[in-house]
Amino acid sequence: MGFPDRKDFFDRCRRLVIKVGSGVLTTERGLNRVMIHRLSDQVAELRLRDKDRKIIIVSSGAVASGVRKIGLKERPRNIPHKQASAAVGQGVLMEAWEQAFDKYDLLVAQVLLTSEDLAHRHRYLNARNALETLLDWGILPIINENDTVVVEEIKFGDNDQLSALMAGLIGADLVVNLTDTEGLYDCDPRVNASARLIPVLHKVDARIIECATPRPGAVGTGGMLSKINAARKCLASGIPMIIAPGRERDVLLRLMEGEELGTAFIPRGRMYQGKKIWLANLPKPSGDLVLDAGAVKALSRGGKSLLPIGVLAVRGNFGMGSPVRCVDEGGRVVGVGLSNYKAAEIERIKGRHTEEIAAILGLKPFDEVIHRNNFVLSEELMQGTGDGGSNA
Ligand code: GLU
Repeated sequence: MGFPDRKDFFDRCRRLVIKVGSGVLTTERGLNRVMIHRLSDQVAELRLRDKDRKIIIVSSGAVASGVRKIGLKERPRNIPHKQASAAVGQGVLMEAWEQAFDKYDLLVAQVLLTSEDLAHRHRYLNARNALETLLDWGILPIINENDTVVVEEIKFGDNDQLSALMAGLIGADLVVNLTDTEGLYDCDPRVNASARLIPVLHKVDARIIECATPRPGAVGTGGMLSKINAARKCLASGIPMIIAPGRERDVLLRLMEGEELGTAFIPRGRMYQGKKIWLANLPKPSGDLVLDAGAVKALSRGGKSLLPIGVLAVRGNFGMGSPVRCVDEGGRVVGVGLSNYKAAEIERIKGRHTEEIAAILGLKPFDEVIHRNNFVLSEELMQGTGDGGSNA
């Protein structure tokens, strides 16, 4: 099967996110500056070919280059050691990107984010404003997780997720995830010689998840499973994503010319917009609402809002407007939405009729605990299609 669409995607692509994994950017001897120069040459060329094209780079490699620079024997396992390695390596990494783009007179900007920065809607919008300004000014943002301040509970996990979130944030038309494998295989090529590359996919289902291994390469953290999760997020936002071999010569230029490299995830059908992109891609909701069967059905089949009568239990201590997960009694995740009420308030109104809210709380700012416009179903995420919500 060919890719008549691929060249189209690139030709039409006004906003491109390029994620580069540690496995591409580092070797046993530390940061691979040759690779950084090769990639920057290609990025500069892409910008030259189309002056209106905006590009952001999500660059891993801080921890890996810090480890080499400090002289540690292996990648640290505990958080403070990772944080300290990233603090050393991030500077090395940025200096290398800056130097590589300098010959094109291209300014770069370091943007370090944590999942907490994107979990709050106003901080998410702040980050978006800063990025938009950089792009307006023709500056190339180079993004990484702020590894020095994150602990396990608030990590994005890896830069695959971060790149999908960034794509939603800046309204990208394409994500290219450069990694140290050829793409997604139907089984792990490291253990099975007959593994075959999957060239194109339109959705991420259980069969595809089975193809992926969570085992990352020697220096990265993600592994293929994490790339697939990122692809699922991109598909839900209607953004194509290509997993491609980052060390392949001229990989970006060849992709742009329509060459069939890697695995392309190409969305079909309706997709999320605006606030729903943010919700669908949220790194970590602030709490859970356990719903009865009626509410589950109303949300998943009826396209309805969540009313207090359908809430059985509240977990976590979240505030008004916080993103919360909705789960059924068996623990299956139904979706994610923004809560109109604080956890303590829902505790008091759960199982009650909407007309009773004012009497119980002394006021009734909303009829619903979660309005449909502020809710995304996890089933839709699984399919890689959204329900077209358009709240900015
Ligand atoms: N933020 C990490 C680093 O720069 C990498 C995370 C990942 O491998 O995806 O080292």
